[in-house]
Amino acid sequence: PTYNFSAGPGMLPAPVLEEVQSQLLSYKESGVSIVEMSHRSSAFIEVARELEHRLRRLMHIPDTYAVLFLQGGATLQFSMVPMNLGKSGRFAYLDSGTWSKKAIQDASRFGDVVLAGSSTATTYGTIPVWPESIQDVDYLHLTLNNTIEGTRYTALPETNVPLVADVSSNILAEAIDVERFGLIYAGAQKNIGPAGLTLVVIRRDLIVERDLPSYLAYSKHVDTLLNTPATFSLYVAERVLAWIEAEGGVSEMERRNREKSERLYHALDTSSLFRPIVTDTTCRSLTNIPFTTGDDVTDEAFRKFAEMRGLIELGGHRSVGGLRASLYNAMPLEGVNRLIETMQEFEQGGHD
Ligand code: PLP
Repeated sequence: PTYNFSAGPGMLPAPVLEEVQSQLLSYKESGVSIVEMSHRSSAFIEVARELEHRLRRLMHIPDTYAVLFLQGGATLQFSMVPMNLGKSGRFAYLDSGTWSKKAIQDASRFGDVVLAGSSTATTYGTIPVWPESIQDVDYLHLTLNNTIEGTRYTALPETNVPLVADVSSNILAEAIDVERFGLIYAGAQKNIGPAGLTLVVIRRDLIVERDLPSYLAYSKHVDTLLNTPATFSLYVAERVLAWIEAEGGVSEMERRNREKSERLYHALDTSSLFRPIVTDTTCRSLTNIPFTTGDDVTDEAFRKFAEMRGLIELGGHRSVGGLRASLYNAMPLEGVNRLIETMQEFEQGGHD
């Protein structure tokens, strides 16, 4: 088998892909493909409704929150968040890595960004110290799991402003207490389904009518499909969520992800050749694990060595290099075991 360690688009459950393939020509024996159906058809409306219900069940999302199915990726949310939630024109951001920085850059076009904390001092090897007090800002934004740097927040102290989180790389991989947040958003292409779908979960009292182009206003998307959504992506996402429910839900996904990541971290911590990039054990990601031999040439040799053995996409993000294993929900424990064995084989001189 091939094990895909890509950070995104990431690996999806094989049974779901098989089911999608079998249904693609004729959805539920209708004679037409799901991708040929109107998004206003009863069959598709049912898919979208089920997707929302499953997400609400899996993440314990109460009715006081709206669930929106948008496009534009997490990247469009870097702008939609300040456009829609900015009232005073002052927003606080925690800078924990590359994606936070991009969110900050886009937000600064819409008002004043208050830097509430940053972990640049440790080159993003830790998460920022939580700010003691935040005042006179519309919200505090953070990246809950840092896909590139491999860190995550494990505690969210009380704050008196709404929290907004980019959860692109850890949604449905571990429990997220939605009610701690005013808004969370995620691109679907890691743990939810194909690219093209972006999930936004927003507390209803934060949705206000704004003088914005219609697509860019959250208020226009609440409890309705404003325009044609990424129908194929919604369909596959609904099937992935059904798979997660059948496998035991988010708590079971988290248990598996802890087991997988603990195994890999242990192998990296005890290896004489490889080492984990994140040494602070209190903030290590369960889903994205960057590592290195400390030498670019050896890292690249290992990447190729692993690729020849069916372990693909182990290269680090192009901005940081090195190696990275993403362990999303569909990655079985067996894939991690194979990676560890391959590291040991390489270490014992298999690469010479
Ligand atoms: N935020 C995080 C945490 C990510 O990991 C990514 C993508 O990899 C993005 C944002 C960008 O997402 P998109 O490509 O959906 O715009």
